[in-house]
Amino acid sequence: MRYDVAVIGGGPSGAVAAAVLAKAGIRTVLLERNLGNVKPCGGAIPLGLIEEFSIPPELVEKKLSHMRARSPKGRSIEMHMPNGYVGMVRREKFDRWLRDEAEKAGAVVMEGLMESIRPAGDGWRITTLNGKVEPFEAAHIIGADGANSKTAVELGFPPNELKVIAMQQRFHYTPEIERFRDIVEIWFDGEVSPDFYGWIFPKADHLAIGTGTEEGKHSIKALQKRFVEKIGITEPSYLDEAAKIPMKPRKSFAAEKHVLVGDAAGLVTPANGEGIFFAMRSGRLGAEAMVRHIREGAPLKAYEKEFRRLYAPIFFGLEVLQSVYYRNDRLRESFVAICRDDDVQRITFDSYLYKKMVPAPWSVQMKIFTKNIFHLLKGA
Ligand SMILES: Cc1cc2nc3c(=O)[nH]c(=O)nc-3n(C[C@H](O)[C@H](O)[C@H](O)COP(=O)(O)OP(=O)(O)OC[C@H]3O[C@@H](n4cnc5c(N)ncnc54)[C@H](O)[C@@H]3O)c2cc1C
Repeated sequence: MRYDVAVIGGGPSGAVAAAVLAKAGIRTVLLERNLGNVKPCGGAIPLGLIEEFSIPPELVEKKLSHMRARSPKGRSIEMHMPNGYVGMVRREKFDRWLRDEAEKAGAVVMEGLMESIRPAGDGWRITTLNGKVEPFEAAHIIGADGANSKTAVELGFPPNELKVIAMQQRFHYTPEIERFRDIVEIWFDGEVSPDFYGWIFPKADHLAIGTGTEEGKHSIKALQKRFVEKIGITEPSYLDEAAKIPMKPRKSFAAEKHVLVGDAAGLVTPANGEGIFFAMRSGRLGAEAMVRHIREGAPLKAYEKEFRRLYAPIFFGLEVLQSVYYRNDRLRESFVAICRDDDVQRITFDSYLYKKMVPAPWSVQMKIFTKNIFHLLKGA
């Protein structure tokens, strides 16, 4: 069987791409190494994503409009989102639903671990490792196989430069952690993460607690252990998971006949490690560009250009924020102090919920700038 497009990887980016292609009448195969895969992930998604992709309410097990930021000195500030919420999903259900949507649209979904992609005629021949799937051919490829993308290696894309290693543990609710049931808590604390942050995400029947750090610099297990101790949890976790997060777009993620989407392309924002939205958005944009390419010969590079046009300012802004404030505890203390400001909260949540950079009025910008300088000089 020869397909028009092979999508490698059935996470959010690949499933969305396959659905868009199949809906457009393109012969599409979605190859996922493990259809029961549970991707290690906090599962926090913004309201804008839930609306855009019509995520069914039963998949969003919590809608949280309160958030607490905690500084290294243990000061906490509470923030409220008056116009929206962070939705909490469980990846095992979420990814399955997305793949089912792709299948309903007409994509062929197969379980197999891609082993090689070799040129064949004017397309590609794909083989799998476990032998469950016979080798097959496709004219075009979308690589959606995550942070360690083998597709990117096989097709010669430049490397994923910066990776964070993140660990998360799940805890059943007990009286000692009951207080976290309805609020997102973020810890900016060098003892929990010297270059990222720690999170406490409530789910319907458990608490997901995790932290991250740049790959190869610190022991993620030691950081996570300290975080759990600092929270005061004495009960053991019932599930531990860890994975890499690519925190910088690859230098190029679109070529003549193939593109990368989601984590495979490195599309996770610095500072907050948000990747699900960008995975689904890039899956959609990459697949739409592929449809135009197949039908009209339009260049696939247009996809990368469009993604950068829409989101490069957000990536840049968050990169600056991370490099300024995540350097030491004095700066983290300042950062949390600045978050107390209502205008800072409004701007942060507006851009998080709908991924739109809305410039604040000059008066507000000046006020935030002055507060920034004040807190930085004062060390909070
Ligand atoms: C601990 C942790 C917490 C996180 N928390 C959040 C959060 O709260 N909110 C958020 O927005 N983002 C979060 N992220 C990031 C988010 O998980 C990713 O950005 C997102 O999953 C990217 O989706 P994707 O489809 O591009 O890749 P993935 O979800 O990684 O999917 C890739 C798929 O490809 C498959 N695959 C891999 N290799 C092959 C192969 N050779 N052949 C076939 N299939 C293959 C895998 O099995 C997998 O299903 C977190 C990440 C981590 C590690």
